[in-house]
Amino acid sequence: MTESAGTTVAPRFPAETDRDYAMLIDGEWVGPGERDTFPCVDPYEDQPWGRIPVATADDVDRAVRAARRAFDEGGWPQTPAVVRAAMLRRLADLIEQHADELARIQIHENGKLIGEMTGGAHFLATHARFVAGLAETMGAASTQGVPGYTTYTVREPLGVVAAITPWNSPLTLLSWKLFPALAAGCTIVIKPSEVTPTSTLRLAELCVEAGFPAGVVNVVTGFGQPTGAALAGHPGVDKIAFTGSTAAGKAMLAAAGPRIGRVTLELGGKSPNIVFGDADLDNAVHGVMAGIFAATGQTCMGGSRVLVEDSVYDEFVERLSAAANRLTMGDPLDPSVDVGPVACRNQFERVLQYIQIGQGEGAKITAGGARDNTPQTAHGLFVQPTVFTGVDNSSRLAQEEIFGPVASVIRFSGEDEATRLANDVDFGLAAAVWTENVARAHRMVKRLRAGTVWVNTYRVVHYAVPFGGFKQSGLGRELGIDALDPYTEVKSVWIDEGNRQTFGRR
Ligand code: NAD
Repeated sequence: MTESAGTTVAPRFPAETDRDYAMLIDGEWVGPGERDTFPCVDPYEDQPWGRIPVATADDVDRAVRAARRAFDEGGWPQTPAVVRAAMLRRLADLIEQHADELARIQIHENGKLIGEMTGGAHFLATHARFVAGLAETMGAASTQGVPGYTTYTVREPLGVVAAITPWNSPLTLLSWKLFPALAAGCTIVIKPSEVTPTSTLRLAELCVEAGFPAGVVNVVTGFGQPTGAALAGHPGVDKIAFTGSTAAGKAMLAAAGPRIGRVTLELGGKSPNIVFGDADLDNAVHGVMAGIFAATGQTCMGGSRVLVEDSVYDEFVERLSAAANRLTMGDPLDPSVDVGPVACRNQFERVLQYIQIGQGEGAKITAGGARDNTPQTAHGLFVQPTVFTGVDNSSRLAQEEIFGPVASVIRFSGEDEATRLANDVDFGLAAAVWTENVARAHRMVKRLRAGTVWVNTYRVVHYAVPFGGFKQSGLGRELGIDALDPYTEVKSVWIDEGNRQTFGRR
């Protein structure tokens, strides 16, 4: 409890969160000891909490060796799929029991809204059950058509996975890697973002409680350098499963290259949200807002380029700007708040810097455009929902990922120009089309170079539907019914049905 102007204010999170945290290596909890530590910082209060160990190269080596042993000698890949699936279902039950706690830890770390984080935490449990089902159906396929032979293929677990994850949806984006890796029979070493390490450590505790054997799940904490780089470059790692920035994604490819390591990359985006003149404009305004202001714009699929057809441009800009100005900012634990803080100081400064860049490039601000300074927000890392209009698609504002609540509105005329502008960017993660014309919707879906295309909706994702990027937005896909494939190798088996070898016979 703290005293404030004569009133007593309850702390927003339990005092026990401000403690030393421990990493999970080979079934042992490894605290800071002599290691350097770093804190988490609650972005709503801009206050540090907790002491998290910086894993040394030696810690990373022990974690990878433990995962290697659990894979090569520990019997985890040979554990029957039904047993692995049962463990995942036990984990799902534990996640459900602790969903509110998991949501709140993430909010303490990254300031995302209670509604989204609580829903997301419960959804983890259903996702785990879905993946458990995939484990039970992953199997052998017979192949036909080779005379004189019986042939079949089996999918075998790939090996040791390094999962390196970002801060914006720490547990959801980890689950896209952790659940299929475990279901397939792989072992894993996780390196969560330095902004959000403790939620992953709590999930790791639940993995231990669910019964995953020592060495199957390991967590090392620290920064990209040296911890993440030591993990990505470790020769004992068979696959890197990475979500984060495109720049770090390129470092992952470079690290895996010399050993031809397997890599899945989910990277950045600069996704176009395309509003045609025949759209339901009311729906489109709210969809565009959800695309860029939900999660304070800190989502890889953020609809940061808003392409608007000239016939409705002025009206749309006016409605979007007015609606953006009406959004409420404040405590992410308050369910009535629309927009929370930016997750960390680096990101906060980066977003404000991009607002300056946009102004320098001549774009006009019609909503927001500054740090928010109300009594509810002045102490935290808040940036106002910002709308830039008259943006040139070749400008830095339109081409570079900002990862914050900044929409760039770009004018177009007709489908050809919309397509050209939408695709004229290095990224290709997502896109959306707003139109009441079903034929136009189908035409645009075919022309857009993006891994996900939404029509009259935005930012919906589900574990049954694959997710991933074209171009520099990534490599490979996560989720969907094929989610286990990237965690397996295909082995082809040939059995002779009685042909006699002819080589060398005379
Ligand atoms: P980031 O790339 O800075 O960091 C991601 C992770 O990689 C962190 O754990 C970090 O410590 C680690 N890391 C950074 N450099 C490394 C290196 N050289 N070697 C090894 N590890 C390294 O990204 P971030 O700021 O945490 O997250 C935001 C980015 O993630 C945005 O670009 C966003 O678009 C992207 N993202 C993509 C998706 C997707 O599914 N496509 C989802 C969420 C976020």
